[in-house]
Amino acid sequence: MTKNVNGGMTVAIDGPAAAGKGTVAKAVAAHFGFAHLDTGLLYRAVAAKTLKGMDAEEAAQTLAPVDLEDPSLRNPDVAQEASKVAVIPAVRAALVRFQRSFAARAGGAVLDGRDIGTVICPDAPVKLFITASPEVRAQRRFAELSGKGIEITYETVLDDVKQRDMRDMSRDQAPLKPADDAKQIDTTEMAIEDAVAAAVALVEAKLADRG
Ligand code: C5P
Repeated sequence: MTKNVNGGMTVAIDGPAAAGKGTVAKAVAAHFGFAHLDTGLLYRAVAAKTLKGMDAEEAAQTLAPVDLEDPSLRNPDVAQEASKVAVIPAVRAALVRFQRSFAARAGGAVLDGRDIGTVICPDAPVKLFITASPEVRAQRRFAELSGKGIEITYETVLDDVKQRDMRDMSRDQAPLKPADDAKQIDTTEMAIEDAVAAAVALVEAKLADRG
């Protein structure tokens, strides 16, 4: 189902908001020349449409690549709405096929999200689960948003992060949790470069195994 039949490598990276998985995913993709898909953007794009009044299921079924380019997708209100549309089974179902075909690219693919190792690519040869404390994650997201000129307090960001964690971990379908065979990396006190190095080493070992 999700086996990479073309011999490419699929790297599945999951974890809560602002744990560093996007940074690690991008760096791993750049290092090996793999394609990268930030699957959170799919849910954010559906959310942006529902905030404009569209039905969530319809938004997921009609999603187009151009919808992923909207700069407002990074805004905190879209993130909150994303975690609300993400609990709807029909929304998740509509996004599965696109993610799986991306994962099966011949040249290798890195996908980051919440359910990549558990649901989207259960056969991925490399799975990572990247975490950090809510406070450290909120601090990182606060710095990122402030850097973009978005006016928000640290307390609000921490609250947002905790609410999203709760919704993502407690939903019935595809809840946020590490796959049994995922390597866990806690970046609370780890430099992001070290997390990238650990991820690259893991992929290299897997590629060497394959010969
Ligand atoms: O990763 P990001 O913060 O952009 O994700 C936004 C929201 O989309 C998450 O809080 C989560 O509810 C949802 N999501 C998901 N499954 C994924 C990726 C994101 O449910 N694979």
